[in-house]
Amino acid sequence: MEFYLGGMKSIVLDDKFYLAVLFAGCNFRCRYCFNSSILEFKNEFLKNIMEVKKTISASDFNGVLFAGAEPCIQRQALISLARFSKKKNKQVAVFTNCSRPDSLRSLIIEQLVDRIYIDIKSPFSKSFERVTNSRTYFKEPEQIIADMKETFELLRNSDVTVIARTTIIPSLMYRKDDIIKIAKLVHSLECNWELQHYIPGISLDKKIQNIRPFTKSFLNTLKEICLKEFPDMEIGIV
Ligand code: SF4
Repeated sequence: MEFYLGGMKSIVLDDKFYLAVLFAGCNFRCRYCFNSSILEFKNEFLKNIMEVKKTISASDFNGVLFAGAEPCIQRQALISLARFSKKKNKQVAVFTNCSRPDSLRSLIIEQLVDRIYIDIKSPFSKSFERVTNSRTYFKEPEQIIADMKETFELLRNSDVTVIARTTIIPSLMYRKDDIIKIAKLVHSLECNWELQHYIPGISLDKKIQNIRPFTKSFLNTLKEICLKEFPDMEIGIV
């Protein structure tokens, strides 16, 4: 089987060594995306899945992280690689934009995933499309939001460890009202939440490439505001 692979690299995740398998191709076009070189399904990215399996077999990593762009779009390849990783006694983690509940459901039902990192980019409001540019010929933002809500319901009812992350971006996603709405969503998932600094210089949208990121103290203020509303939340800053 061939699939679209953007690259592989070693990373440290939760204090353990992981092989990160970066799937090419994404259904979103987030303005702040720093993976713009692998968003398209280009022929040059096509790789035989056996090459990746050989790397997983030969490695002494504790686990494999499937990330991207968006790994859940290539469901067959993702499940095949997760099954293989589990056979090799690796921990499996997935980083997703939550828009493909069908892929996540299969991974969870087959017990092929230990940790799911979810990127919550915006509340489910008008700002969602402004941040993600997710509308396609086939799907309206309303349908994508409905799919994401299905993912959250699935995660609420599963035992898999979930870690949520939100990027705080000047001029785009920073307002108190928006951040509290996201906090409410994360709170309902009963999972840890990381507020992430925006990285300037490499975003997909050139108009925001040179804006200065917020200070750590601004992110701390957002964290404190959310903790006042939801005191039992675990919120980190990265
Ligand atoms: S940041 Fe957005 S566009 Fe970039 S890979 Fe993630 S979901 Fe896709």
